[in-house]
Amino acid sequence: MCIFCKIVNGELPANMVRENDDFMAFHDLNPKAPAHILVIPKLHVDSFNEVTPETMAGMTSFIQEVAKVVGIKESGYRVITNVGDNGGQEVKHLHWHVLGGAKLAWGHFADADTKDFF
Ligand code: 5GP
Ligand code: ZN
Repeated sequence: MCIFCKIVNGELPANMVRENDDFMAFHDLNPKAPAHILVIPKLHVDSFNEVTPETMAGMTSFIQEVAKVVGIKESGYRVITNVGDNGGQEVKHLHWHVLGGAKLAWGHFADADTKDFF
């Protein structure tokens, strides 16, 4: 069972922000911004590649609520999901990073030049 499924079933603790029947939001263990929340579906989905539009519809309003509860809705924030190896996905259970609380830096390429792709 993956670590986020263990958080869902209570085997592992998490610093919870919000929860409903389908989704959970909790603080990232290793925050990359003053506010760094992870939002997950309770039912295991490997990544964004597999998520259904129905689940995404529920997650959209849940993420909006989380941004409001955390107090970053008006100041702004970033929503990211890493997909697969190149995306840097370490936990293979779909999760959205909700980052805010400060001006965020922008820059993503680990070791490649954009010219190589486009
Ligand atoms: P990924 O790299 O897969 O997009 O992001 C995984 C995230 O999960 C990382 O930001 C990491 O800090 C966080 N993380 C890993 N294990 C745990 C854990 O047990 N609890 C919490 N709250 N966050 C975790
Ligand atoms: Zn899982």
